Amino acid sequence: MIVDRQGRRFRNLRVSLTAACNYACTYCVPDGKRLVAAQDELSAEALARGVAYLIEAAGIERLRVTGGEPLVSPKLETFLKTVAGFGLDDISLTTNGQLLARKLPLLVDVGIRRLNVSLDTLDAQAFRGIARGGDLASVLDGMAQAAAAGMKIKVNMVPLRGQNLDQVLPLLDYCLEHGYELRFIELMRMGHLARDNNQFLQQFVGLEQLLQVIGEHFEYAQADAPVDATALRYRIPGRGCFGVIANESVPFCRTCSRLRLSSTGWLHGCLSSSNRHYIGDLLDLPRHQALPALQGLLVKALGDKQSVAFSGGATVMKIIGG
Ligand code: SAM
Repeated sequence: MIVDRQGRRFRNLRVSLTAACNYACTYCVPDGKRLVAAQDELSAEALARGVAYLIEAAGIERLRVTGGEPLVSPKLETFLKTVAGFGLDDISLTTNGQLLARKLPLLVDVGIRRLNVSLDTLDAQAFRGIARGGDLASVLDGMAQAAAAGMKIKVNMVPLRGQNLDQVLPLLDYCLEHGYELRFIELMRMGHLARDNNQFLQQFVGLEQLLQVIGEHFEYAQADAPVDATALRYRIPGRGCFGVIANESVPFCRTCSRLRLSSTGWLHGCLSSSNRHYIGDLLDLPRHQALPALQGLLVKALGDKQSVAFSGGATVMKIIGG
């Protein structure tokens, strides 16, 4: 097992199936172009082999499938059906929910029980302004159908000053009402936001302000969370829980156990590092040749992790999947 001096190791793998997305959220895809895949994306079979090799070489226990938007990818079915047989503790998926109702039978069939659905507002017009694609009603319907099918749903919202701060309370109320756990994600300095500090600061809403807005309407208390969790969790008595992924305000780098594999075959050990390590060529090798080479790259990827604080990175979120 590869462990660093801070006792960190890779347990959680995120695989971006494709960089293509049917949205172009303003904070993620600044050029507004939708459905643009990356060049030289790997096949479903190669990505699944990557997962198999990483389970062995790094001790991966849990897999999250992401993108771009994983549900638009033609690789989805083959990939999920293959990795479902790998004996992982958990396979979950992050989606914008637009195609959720349509893809639900497949997700249920392969044993996915946990979904993260990104939703920044319940206002249909503001939704179109931020996502620049899709429609709100399909997302809400997809979540309702997934919940009825027994899926556990977390809703991810990125609070943005001037765009959706008025939605913090309505969205929280909606999620509590429907049994979804809302998680606020502090805006991260990724991609264009790593280069444009002014734009970042104009839009950023931190933990303190968020809790102040929530505290004016709800009583809450901090709740337990797993040691390597990224989210701080809070309980609203009698209603349910919400979380805050406070990358900037309360960085979780010290206990980070995440490893990312892009749709083009690059390993990223840290969101906040521009280092990446190509494994696409190793995936054509037999196991006994691939694993030693992979272990060397995993040592480097673990060494890329920030020791204390997240500082942002040039990598675009839709390439590595958040
Ligand atoms: N298409 C899927 C979705 O919408 O959930 C998966 C990919 S998307 C890149 C994953 C998550 O990253 C979304 O919840 C999105 O809001 C978040 N995200 C993208 N850019 C971000 C940024 N700069 N800061 C914080 N979160 C970001």
